[in-house]
Amino acid sequence: MKSALRSRRCRPVAQSRVTSQCGNARSLRGITGADREGGSLTPNVLKQAAAFHGHLGPWLVLGLKAGAHARRKLTASPFELNARVFCPAGTPYTCFVDGVQFSSGCTMGKGNISHVRAKGCRVEFTRTGASHKGTKVQSGSGTMLRFALRSEVWDELHSRSGGGMSGAARLGREFARRPLEALFSV
Ligand SMILES: [Zn+2]
Repeated sequence: MKSALRSRRCRPVAQSRVTSQCGNARSLRGITGADREGGSLTPNVLKQAAAFHGHLGPWLVLGLKAGAHARRKLTASPFELNARVFCPAGTPYTCFVDGVQFSSGCTMGKGNISHVRAKGCRVEFTRTGASHKGTKVQSGSGTMLRFALRSEVWDELHSRSGGGMSGAARLGREFARRPLEALFSV
């Protein structure tokens, strides 16, 4: 009992726990829900993300797509990723941040997402091999992936911003079907 409390012995236990959480990351991959190469998001994922965020809209969907693609491309668990989101402060832009949180697993609670006030909208993901509760998961490669919202999409979002919540939801579903490359330069 006493020896089990020694940090040397605790470490593998903690590691296996994190590993099993990364196993959950497999099911989380289901939650991130984008099909191959950043394609459509499933209706179920949109529903869950909308419940998390409070409503469905195109900025949320953009964050979902970028985060899901980063998770898959960098083959990282939510503990091994760091996200820096660059966009103006305030909604609807920061709805993008919630999309990134939901699909990438980079969250305020884990401290591996940050928002930087900026013009335009982009997000940078780094595979860090970050630690959680002091447990090093895996040393990361430091690989970075950047998604910058295309200027024509930015313009479109501003020209189609009317229509209230139902208009935003409709536009969100439309964006969910678009290929990633049509929305971002990666
Ligand atoms: Zn929103």
